[in-house]
Amino acid sequence: MSLLELAPARCVRALSINSICSHCADVCPTNAINLSARLPSINQSLCVGCAGCVAVCPSEALGLDDFNPTEFFFSMASDAENVVSCQKNLPCIAALSVEHLISLCSLKKGLVLDTGHCNSCEIGDKVLEMMEGRIQSTNYLLEAIEIDERVVCEKIAYSSGETNEPKERRDFFKTFHLRGIAKVKHDFEKEVQSTTDEFIEAHIDSSHTQELRTKKITDRRKLFFTALKRVEKPSRFHVVDSSMIDFTSQKIMDEAKCTACQMCYRVCPTAALTSDMRNSKIDFDPFLCVKCHLCHDVCESDAISVSTSYNLTEWFEPKVQNLITYTVRRCDECDGLFSSVGGEKICHRCQLEEEEALELWGLNK
Ligand code: SF4
Ligand code: SF4
Ligand code: SF4
Repeated sequence: MSLLELAPARCVRALSINSICSHCADVCPTNAINLSARLPSINQSLCVGCAGCVAVCPSEALGLDDFNPTEFFFSMASDAENVVSCQKNLPCIAALSVEHLISLCSLKKGLVLDTGHCNSCEIGDKVLEMMEGRIQSTNYLLEAIEIDERVVCEKIAYSSGETNEPKERRDFFKTFHLRGIAKVKHDFEKEVQSTTDEFIEAHIDSSHTQELRTKKITDRRKLFFTALKRVEKPSRFHVVDSSMIDFTSQKIMDEAKCTACQMCYRVCPTAALTSDMRNSKIDFDPFLCVKCHLCHDVCESDAISVSTSYNLTEWFEPKVQNLITYTVRRCDECDGLFSSVGGEKICHRCQLEEEEALELWGLNK
């Protein structure tokens, strides 16, 4: 029986109370994830272990205890087969993100998703609906980078021949072995957890501080760029509709709106947004962006937005872009250095203190 695990400090909702990320709950075909609390609550008894949520989590905060997408990727990449099936090599086709699909399809010269079991599967309809969008996006992007191969669905209905009895998805894991992975981690404690029919709330505390501060590039992004390095560069770099890309973005900064509050690059989980020691600028590395939306969620002045188009040059010749540069000057009040955007003479903190004092004295208009 597989268990869905959440690394609470990797969830972008842990990085800011303003985060609106809900990808995991949105795709779950059994409503096993609840977002009424700050962090996702999981009902293990409702979860069928499809890994659909794992595939869409921008920061890889979710994982199944007995399925590692990266190990699956390498297993597939070294296999002559290009068929993925829930009865063969992964828990469900929903476990594959668009990044995985593009990477595998380009490396394997085509990828076939076995949908032959979906009609008889309890979550089949929802998985097919979920995968339709991912496959459409994948094939659109493959065409845009001039790769001829496509991801296709075929009703193969792969069977290992072990049994004629229909398998429960969770039973599948009892016999599931990827090449090189000979262990199945099902101890008593996990058995108990997986049958608990209640939503268990995740928490963060001071023990997570270091992890919350750590910026991390996702494993699937590393695989994605490794795969792209092995394909031929397109004859020209196309500019595509950014709504067709759910896993990365390009940003536009409205310099007139930016208040130099520094929130966006401080919360960015992957260091796609950065500054320098003096906080004199904001740089953006599209190579690292996972489109988690956190920088937008924390920007009170809506200064940062997603570009409606995406230049695919970033996938082959990535480079860091400067979004804004500030004047660094000393605050007239506290003498500390601060990033000035519009000729202000006092820093943001002193400005707030002054506003609070005026309010206290009843002098604010
Ligand atoms: S693994 Fe599948 S069923 Fe379980 S919570 Fe994630 S999306 Fe829902
Ligand atoms: S998709 Fe990932 S980052 Fe977003 S709420 Fe779910 S667990 Fe958190
Ligand atoms: S740049 Fe924004 S959307 Fe991209 S990873 Fe960083 S916080 Fe998320």
